[in-house]
Amino acid sequence: MIPGARLILLGRQGAGKGTQCVRLSRHFVVPHISTGDMLRAAVREGTDLGRMAKKVMDDGGLVGDDIMIGLVRERLSHHDAKGRGYILDGFPRTVLQAQVLDEISAEQRIDLVLDLDVPRELVLARLSARRVCRDCGTNYVASGVEKLPWICEVCGGDVMHRDDDTPEAIEHRLDLYEQQTAPLIEFYQSQSRLAVIDGVGSPEAVFRLLAAAVDAAR
Ligand code: ADP
Ligand code: ZN
Repeated sequence: MIPGARLILLGRQGAGKGTQCVRLSRHFVVPHISTGDMLRAAVREGTDLGRMAKKVMDDGGLVGDDIMIGLVRERLSHHDAKGRGYILDGFPRTVLQAQVLDEISAEQRIDLVLDLDVPRELVLARLSARRVCRDCGTNYVASGVEKLPWICEVCGGDVMHRDDDTPEAIEHRLDLYEQQTAPLIEFYQSQSRLAVIDGVGSPEAVFRLLAAAVDAAR
């Protein structure tokens, strides 16, 4: 039986985090916990959280730390995450979130933080071509010759352009990444819990680097 894992994947928007998290979650048989997917589900369901989050997300802003911490704390208390572990995608995104996550996970420490490194110039093009299944969150890359409506291969849902993948919102999200999230690299580096992975390359090659870093850390 493959041992579980408790992992965080950091990286700029468009670095391929979502796709690599899906692979890692299958490989290590742990739940993929994406705060972006959780928020988009709340938007679809029209909950209070969803209505509030939609405005923030469409502008490319960050949802408040208290709300995000509450969501993740609740999710990590579920049986699957307590047992086998998890891979966190999109959380933590601020130093405060990282500090509280350390408290939440004090008894079962995070094994490794992976930083998927792709330069800002490269992610811009990827983000404008990004499409996402509104039901299961699978990411796709548009080539412009797709038959419409575009149906998800995984679940049959509609594949759409995200409302927050406009040029303005993308710029804003990348700026916030540099200001609020990039400091986490130093935060985890200083605690020797970080592996920086070159995210430029084929998805298969990048995945091999990620999985090898996890194996080496355990
Ligand atoms: P991306 O990495 O492309 O920005 P995500 O799917 O991770 O996309 O997140 C989409 C949006 O959800 C973010 O722009 C932000 O508004 C909100 N969000 C997701 N996770 C967090 C978080 N940990 N803290 C604050 N806001 C978050
Ligand atoms: Zn789907």
